[in-house]
Amino acid sequence: MSNISFTDLTAHQKVIGDKITDAVNIVIKNGRYIMGPQVAQFENDLREFSGAKHAISCANGTDALLLILMAYGIKPGDVIFVPSFTFAATAEVVAMLGAVPFFVDVDSATYNISCRSLEDAIGRAKELNLPVRGVIAVDLFGRPAPYRELQNICDEENLILIADAAQSFGSVYEGRPVGTLAKTTAVSFFPAKPLGCYGDGGAVLTMDDGLAAAMRSIRVHGQGAHKYDNIRLGMNSRLDTIQAAVLIEKLKIFESELAQRQNVAAYYDAHLSGACVKPGISGGFRSSWAQYTVVLDGIDRDALMKKLSEKSIPTMIYYLKPLHLQPAYDHCPRAAARLENSEYLSSHVVSLPMHPYLLEEHLHAICQTVNQVCADLVRAAVGGGGCR
Ligand SMILES: *Cc1c(COP(=O)(O)O)cnc(C)c1O
Repeated sequence: MSNISFTDLTAHQKVIGDKITDAVNIVIKNGRYIMGPQVAQFENDLREFSGAKHAISCANGTDALLLILMAYGIKPGDVIFVPSFTFAATAEVVAMLGAVPFFVDVDSATYNISCRSLEDAIGRAKELNLPVRGVIAVDLFGRPAPYRELQNICDEENLILIADAAQSFGSVYEGRPVGTLAKTTAVSFFPAKPLGCYGDGGAVLTMDDGLAAAMRSIRVHGQGAHKYDNIRLGMNSRLDTIQAAVLIEKLKIFESELAQRQNVAAYYDAHLSGACVKPGISGGFRSSWAQYTVVLDGIDRDALMKKLSEKSIPTMIYYLKPLHLQPAYDHCPRAAARLENSEYLSSHVVSLPMHPYLLEEHLHAICQTVNQVCADLVRAAVGGGGCR
């Protein structure tokens, strides 16, 4: 059996490698390395794929979030509610503008922002007379956040709702695709994300004409009608033409890759034993399965990962520490003294290999090995020696 990789960034080249090489060569020959025609074409393809009214490509997913916050005019001191169990960029962009990331706990089953904890956080922030402005919902590991409930809370409280879909491009929630679930959506094309390019890349998807125009301007130094007009503070965050050329080709096979990711998740769901708490594969959503992450209850995570590694099965922990406990953010306000689910998940989750090109023989070996090692560890914990 060939080696099992946790995520395989080159396997698609067996399918479209030549097409990507040709597309990149065209860019190299044409010399339009910045804002070449492939950038506009890719933005067009993104709009068609997602159903969003506008797609604005940019340099990475972190900048996509920053473009959104800047277009909304988020100011120093403004409060933006963010989940604690996420990648650092979600809170980082808020802090970079001098605004306040206010940490909210997540739901223990979906790993996404908890509406109940959000309501607690809003209550606390109001008691402190803080200027509450918005919420960044994260579609963690690909699973869409509960947008219907979140939109209701945001409408009631007059808050902006922003989707951090860095991990969930291609996901669907209650029949609606990512890109249409909030007024603004940030996407990442970092190589390991479901739709990855050959370097850094990102995009904002939005339904709003005014915000779209502002973000197109902020992306290039706050440019006005003329290239050397600067009508607002901006930054330099364009998507390279070469990355756009790669993404145009990769988007063409993205639906079939998403289908293969569904198959992998369904295999895990059917074949992993009850020793791992599985994320579930149904319930009003389709995940892009950026990660397949299980929760271990009563099983020593380090021991499991070590045993699996010895058997050539790679695993990863996303995320080892919730953001409200990180030195960069531990002074920020939070919904409660302890964010229990975020803390519990950080010390109990493990992610299994996930990519569209995992073979059935790989999946069979992974499930058999995980089940066996879990059973051994449970037995050792109960019996103390491995004998019944
Ligand atoms: C990857 C990621 C980002 C940032 O994307 P980059 O392209 O790496 O800047 C933001 N939020 C989440 C949840 C992510 O997983």
